[in-house]
Amino acid sequence: MHCPFCSTEETKVIDSRLVSDGYQVRRRRECGNCHERFTTFETAELIVPKIIKNDGTREPFNEDKLRRGIQHALEKRPVSADDVEQAISRIMHLLRTTGEREVPSKLVGTLAMEELKKLDKVAYIRFASVYLSFDDIKQFSKEIENLRD
Ligand SMILES: [Zn+2]
Repeated sequence: MHCPFCSTEETKVIDSRLVSDGYQVRRRRECGNCHERFTTFETAELIVPKIIKNDGTREPFNEDKLRRGIQHALEKRPVSADDVEQAISRIMHLLRTTGEREVPSKLVGTLAMEELKKLDKVAYIRFASVYLSFDDIKQFSKEIENLRD
């Protein structure tokens, strides 16, 4: 890392400790050239990736849109608001931890389907019938058969 005072590349870490309950690393550095000391903070970059739509355009991830889709599938089903919020949290956690800057919208749909499958089979089928493409429907029909058994 370059020294912010003299711009030399030769700096070394002289102390390193966890701060913010372990979510951040604080490092003291010293420049080998001008001997100035400075501090850097390191945190994990957890961003929700952008969504690549089927037509190739990108849009920011929209949590409300995901929630609406899930709630729509769950209409009049015996699933609590808490369970829905937990499912949304899990989906967002998975998206953040992909480490990708962009993911296809299909991935969000697949994650939502996985969550609905655990919450309510009827909602799962409703969501899938709206979301899946015709090719996927064939595959999905097989899965419905398995659920019946
Ligand atoms: Zn320096």
